[in-house]
Amino acid sequence: MGQMTVKRVGVIGGGQLAWMMAGAAQRLGFDLVIQTPQKGDPAVSIATEVIFAPIEDAAATAQLSACCDVITFENEFIDLEALKPLETKGVCFRPSLGVLTPLLDKYQQRSYLQQIGLPVPKFTTLETLSSLDFSFPMVLKVRRHGYDGQGTFIIQTSQELEATAKSLNGVEVMVEEFVPFERELAVMAARSVTGEVVVYPVVETYQPDQVCRWAIAPGDISTEIQAEIEQIATHLLTQLGVVGIFGIELFLTPQGQVLVNEIAPRTHNSGHYTLDACETSQFEMQLRAVAGLPLGSTQLNCLGAVMVNLLGYEYSQQDYLEKRQKLSEIPSFHVHWYGKTDVRPGRKLGHVTVLLEETEAILSPKIRQQQLLEIAQQVESIWYPS
Ligand code: ADP
Repeated sequence: MGQMTVKRVGVIGGGQLAWMMAGAAQRLGFDLVIQTPQKGDPAVSIATEVIFAPIEDAAATAQLSACCDVITFENEFIDLEALKPLETKGVCFRPSLGVLTPLLDKYQQRSYLQQIGLPVPKFTTLETLSSLDFSFPMVLKVRRHGYDGQGTFIIQTSQELEATAKSLNGVEVMVEEFVPFERELAVMAARSVTGEVVVYPVVETYQPDQVCRWAIAPGDISTEIQAEIEQIATHLLTQLGVVGIFGIELFLTPQGQVLVNEIAPRTHNSGHYTLDACETSQFEMQLRAVAGLPLGSTQLNCLGAVMVNLLGYEYSQQDYLEKRQKLSEIPSFHVHWYGKTDVRPGRKLGHVTVLLEETEAILSPKIRQQQLLEIAQQVESIWYPS
């Protein structure tokens, strides 16, 4: 390992995270071979070759492995057990399947994080809930396949708990304390084949209704909190022996305590700002890590940035060309449009990144944060119907 020469990178999943790997793949000279179910998926247009199949189809991944040198993930909703024989036969997954094993189920992930000594919210299973000291509100989470708040329920009463559990029809869930966080933070971190770990600036995310609306980089946090989160990231990636990039979502409590909420074993929405605002984007970093190259710099190339998601707000087949052009008319707006054809409320259709340039370096962090917030509001006022 490490000595292998990579030309073709296989990617399981063909959504926007795979689509955004295209620029870096081209610069580094890699071809992307993608496993994704539908012709209309964003990354189909940028792939050298596509295996059209569901993400969890391990037979399709066997086909994928025959036409690439290494396989990485943009989606972790895989059938891990079915993939194991491929790894045994020598197919190179980065991160390896062993790394993913404790992460794909939210309860197991929490248990793992706790076991390696990371701070997490108090959590348990529904079965053992009654014997524990848990009070309302609490949060019920479906253990597998949750994303963008799908499968996350904030529960206020025992009647609500019973009704929600019942409506889930036996799907496995976990329960955790509701954290009255002051802010939500997130960070991207990568680890190379040689064990080098790099950590990006910590960002502040805003996720009302459990879907990320925007992220501000860097977050307005103390150097101590930044250092603590860097340590958490380094410890996690090193303990797991990750080769690749991870997103880590965290809560900052009013008392200044950092709690790890969730790990994404891949690139992440909270790292989209890196495409325009960092020396090495999260997508290039992922490719560098999985291809066995030295990692790049995680430094910001500007004073700060805000990334605003363009979320669907209706059911439609529109391409919103007029709105996108309106956004693009503002020269400092970097518009990224994923080309999805099926729009529904809350679906991530694109994003806009705006950078604060060095000339604004005199700004205090508070004013800088305020400016970035105002830019986020400006983007949203153009995008969403009033
Ligand atoms: P998903 O996998 O769907 O992204 P998350 O666990 O990240 O699910 O939860 C989505 C959002 O729900 C979080 O970003 C946060 O805003 C809210 N949330 C999740 N867990 C808690 C909690 N324990 N306390 C308070 N809010 C929470």
